[in-house]
This record gives sequence, structure tokens and C-alpha cells, in this order.
Amino acid sequence: MDLGKNISPTPQPTEGSQEKDVKPVEEKKVARPIQIVQANEHNFELNATALEEVLLQKHVKDLNVVVVSVAGAFRKGKSFLLDFMLRYMHNRDKDSWIGGNDEPLTGFTWRGGCERETTGIQVWSEVFVVEKPDDIFIMNSYFNLLLMNFQAFQHKLVQSTIKDSATVFALSTMTSSVQVYNLSSNIQEDDLQHLQLFTEYGRLAMEEVSEKPFQSLMFLIRDWCFPYEYCYGMKGGNEFLDKRLQVKHNQHEELQNVRNHIQHCFSNINCFLLPHPGLKVATNPKFDGRLRDINEEFKKELAQLVPLLLAPSQLVEKEIGGNKVTCKDLLEYFKAYIKIYQGEELPHPKTMLQATAEANNLTAVAGAKDLYSKKMEQVCGGDKPYVAPGDLKRCHEEIRDYSVSYFRSVKKMGGKEFCQRYQNQLESELEETYTNLSKQNDGKNIFYAARTPATLFAVMFI
Ligand code: GDP
Repeated sequence: MDLGKNISPTPQPTEGSQEKDVKPVEEKKVARPIQIVQANEHNFELNATALEEVLLQKHVKDLNVVVVSVAGAFRKGKSFLLDFMLRYMHNRDKDSWIGGNDEPLTGFTWRGGCERETTGIQVWSEVFVVEKPDDIFIMNSYFNLLLMNFQAFQHKLVQSTIKDSATVFALSTMTSSVQVYNLSSNIQEDDLQHLQLFTEYGRLAMEEVSEKPFQSLMFLIRDWCFPYEYCYGMKGGNEFLDKRLQVKHNQHEELQNVRNHIQHCFSNINCFLLPHPGLKVATNPKFDGRLRDINEEFKKELAQLVPLLLAPSQLVEKEIGGNKVTCKDLLEYFKAYIKIYQGEELPHPKTMLQATAEANNLTAVAGAKDLYSKKMEQVCGGDKPYVAPGDLKRCHEEIRDYSVSYFRSVKKMGGKEFCQRYQNQLESELEETYTNLSKQNDGKNIFYAARTPATLFAVMFI
């Protein structure tokens, strides 16, 4: 039996693997926003079960993921925008996606008022499976699209809320591939200050892998009031952004650094200027999102903005450390990142790097184990006949070596020694799995089973 030749280089989802498959959320409940991270007393808590329900659904967990997130202060129209994104995703095959004049907007709950809300992260429970535009005839040419809402306080005077905001922005940048930074009327210096933590992380990450650590960042400026200086849309936005990101000598050194690093950390940076949506949207408590109540100019720009973010050709798959990330991997990254934001202080960028390296190695171990289980399943799975122990051992050795070389081929952070520890862990886990599979295989051998003392004993007393 020469199994090595049939081994596919990419780990595929294992039908019979022990890993849990979660039923699609939509099957059980209607699609809705799910709070996955909550901030309590400046401590961040991950609702891992809720996130698992979304990310481990059988039809999505092994596909690469595109994470589009909207991050910013509360009551600045993030949910309102996300609901239009949902409308686009639901109507993307139709000629007009934007909806009828009297259709109320639904999805992420949004409301007016000035009450403070808790900082946190919401994810839309429905993961959209999108076909890759260029690879229509290639296998595995689908990816997931996940929409997230990152809500931060923005209070300039309270130190702890600056920590919370910086944490939310760092989390959002580290977990998303298309990040919309939602701002009101302008880009202020403290808006840039929030970016400092992860640009510093990005700089360290680039010392390890040459790829840029983050993919796409869009500054989205709401209620833009100066269209005569910079016109609405992306053209005016990018001209405005170039000016705001210029480094000047009178700027604080930290802000000069942010400006310098930000360009190197993201593969793609843009800015979009949105006009004011009109008084009904901003002030009428009865406004329910229908287009009739929204200013024409706003609708015109919105119709440009949403496809710029979500058209399949615009979507970028999430990458960490030079590897594409699946939904299943994303769960591991969330778990790793949330741990480092538990303390009173902001984590050091080096700690963030360490957490990434850890999660990065863990997902490579999981991928290699998946590969092993799937191939061994074909050899000696529950429905397969007994295999002679010598043959089984040979298959195990071949598949084990292949899985280990898969692990080694994945780009990883953390240095040689660090990765070696995970390789050792992988090897010992594979040996353990093999021992269990051998026992299972022995159980299928009637002669072997007949000769065990217990069966002999049973036979003697029949
Ligand atoms: P979120 O807390 O950032 O998610 O904000 P919401 O989406 O809940 O919106 C808060 C309020 O702002 C609601 O009353 C919306 O109608 C209103 N709103 C939505 N978009 C805009 C905008 O672009 N400009 C202004 N001024 N108000 C908006």
C-alpha cells in the first residue's frame, strides 16, 4: 500500500474526525447579531461557545475566511452601515441591492440617543459563503465572509477607556482582513493614537515574516462637511488621508511613528468620505431605516461604498503570519488574543506577537493532525476491514512523516526552537492517535479477539 502518493497537500475537512461539527446557526435560529466579546470592568471576556456556534458550522469551518469589521465609537452609525452590508450580501445576485423606498432596515440593532453602551464585539451569526471570482473551476474556490461590529468607548479624559478602545481596535485589526475605521466628521490625532498599539505590533511581526501583517484598512468619515475641499467618496477621501498621514516635525514622536508605520503595516489603506444622511436619520427617534427618509447624496455614496467593501473581487482573505486563516483557525486566534488583554494594562506588542506565534503554531498542529486523521481513516477507519499490524505501522509512519512535513511547511512565527516544541507535541499526539487506532484495529481481528482471556473464559462457560 503506498498511501503517501495520494495524500493531498492541503488538509481537507475530515468526515469522521472527532472534532465537533456545529449545526448551521440559521438552521436553529434566525440569523442575528451575537455578542462574542464583552468588556466588564475593563476586562474582556470571550463567549467562546457563541463564537464556536458561528465558526465551527460544518459548511464553513474549513474554508478561508474574509473578516469585514466596522470599528469605532458608539452611536456613530456602525450598525446602520452593517445593515446595508447585510442587505448587499442578501441581494447580491439582484440588479439592485439597496432595497425599496419603504423597506425598514433590519439586522444589527441600531438606535439613536446618547446613552453609553458596553464596549464589545458582535458578529453576524450567518456566515456567507462566497465564490472566488477568478477560480471558478478550481476546487475549494469558496470562502466565508464574516461581518463584525467592534464597539469602543471614546472618552478622551478617562485613561481606562483609552485602554478599552485601543484594545478593541487592536483586536479588530488583528482578527479582520477588511477593517473599516468608522469616524465622525474628521480624523483626529487621538483617532490615530488608537492605532499605535497594533502598528507597533505590526512592526515587530514584520521582523519575523516579510509579508505585511494586516490587509485592508478603510478610514470611513461620516458627516463629511467639506466636499468643496475634498469631494465625497474614495477619491476625495484618499487625497484627504494623504494629507492627514503626512509626517510633520511638530507632531508628537509617537504620532509620527504611527504615521510612518501604518503605511507599512497594511497592504491597502483607503479613506471614504460620506455625506450627512439627513436630519431624519440623525434625530428622528421613529426613523426605521427606510430609504425614503435618507438624503439622496448619502444614498448615492452608500451605493458606491458597500460594493467597494464587499464585491467578491474586493474581498481579501484573512492572513496571519503569511498564512490564510480558516474559520476554525480564527477561533484559535480569538482565544489566544483575548487572553493577553485580561490585565489592567495594555499588553506589550511583544506579548501580542507571542500570542500570535502560539496560535499560529497551534493551528498548524491542528491542520497536520487533521491531515493524519483523514488519511488514517481511509486505511483503518471504523468501516474498514482489519489491517495486518505491519502494514498499519508502515502506513502510520508514512502518513505521520507527511503530516509533520506539512506542519514544517506552514509559515510560522516564534523562531526555530519555539516551533520545534510544537512539532514535538504534534509527533507525540500522532503516536498516541496511532496507539488508539492500532487497538481499534486489533479489535476487528476475530482470531485475535477470540484468543483474549475474556473471550476464552466466555467460550468455556457456554
Ligand atoms: P453604532 O452605535 O455606531 O452602531 O450606531 P447606530 O448604527 O446604532 O446609529 C446611531 C444613530 O446614528 C442612529 O440614530 C442612526 O440613525 C444615526 N446614524 C446612522 N448613520 C449616520 C450618519 O452617517 N450620520 C449621522 N449623523 N447619524 C447617523
